[in-house]
Amino acid sequence: MRVVVKIGTSNITYPTGRLNIRHMEALCKILSDIKNSGCELIVVSSGATAMGVGKLKLSEKPKDMPGKQACAAVGQCELMYTYDKMFTEHGHTVAQILITGDDLSDASRYSNFANTVERLLELKALPIINENDTVSTVEYGVGDNDTLGALVAAGVKADLLVLLSDIDGLYTADPRKDPDAKLIPVVEELTDDIMALGGGKGSALGTGGMATKLGAARICIKSGINMAIINGSKPEALYDLTEGKTAGTMFVGKKA
Ligand code: GLU
Repeated sequence: MRVVVKIGTSNITYPTGRLNIRHMEALCKILSDIKNSGCELIVVSSGATAMGVGKLKLSEKPKDMPGKQACAAVGQCELMYTYDKMFTEHGHTVAQILITGDDLSDASRYSNFANTVERLLELKALPIINENDTVSTVEYGVGDNDTLGALVAAGVKADLLVLLSDIDGLYTADPRKDPDAKLIPVVEELTDDIMALGGGKGSALGTGGMATKLGAARICIKSGINMAIINGSKPEALYDLTEGKTAGTMFVGKKA
């Protein structure tokens, strides 16, 4: 089974931008174990900008583009340093891949990217992908890692994309505001009613939210890839998903 797991900023950092050691350790341990079981794993990780904010001891994420890009440049090192350290503890070798929207829309660059991922998987390395934020701009970039995760999953012909969120999945209403909100376990069609549930914003330091996750689901469903949204603070659900069980909200990819 080939699985892409997208880790969001709020899964691994505190609102201060400092590393959430407990979450990061739990995630790296479970992902290592899943890789040990024979699963082919690719990680798409956010968190560079937030970790740059933390490392530079800024009080908030800068509003201007060069400021955000400077944070990403600082934070990407910290992010990969942390992954390298934690995955090495479990005997895994990480590989950093930074890409832009342009790389994904250019056929030859896209195939270079896919070939490199393929070779890394043959070498049993763990590709960790992020957008190359220092050269991406809002106009030309992918812009958020939920979409990037879906494009990567389609490019490497994954069986499953898992988006880690800060809630358990897609709800009938915002569960933080509405006590009657119910988790939707399976979505087969992205109807207008389902798409309307993507209203809320994500965290202050990240970029994604439910709207970008539903956009990612659209790409996956069309590409025949199953997608799940689960809570990143309950990463044990990754075991269920890689064992073919369901967890969180499952979006069923359309088989050709
Ligand atoms: N590439 C951004 C970062 O590492 C994250 C984008 C997102 O939050 O979706 O900070």
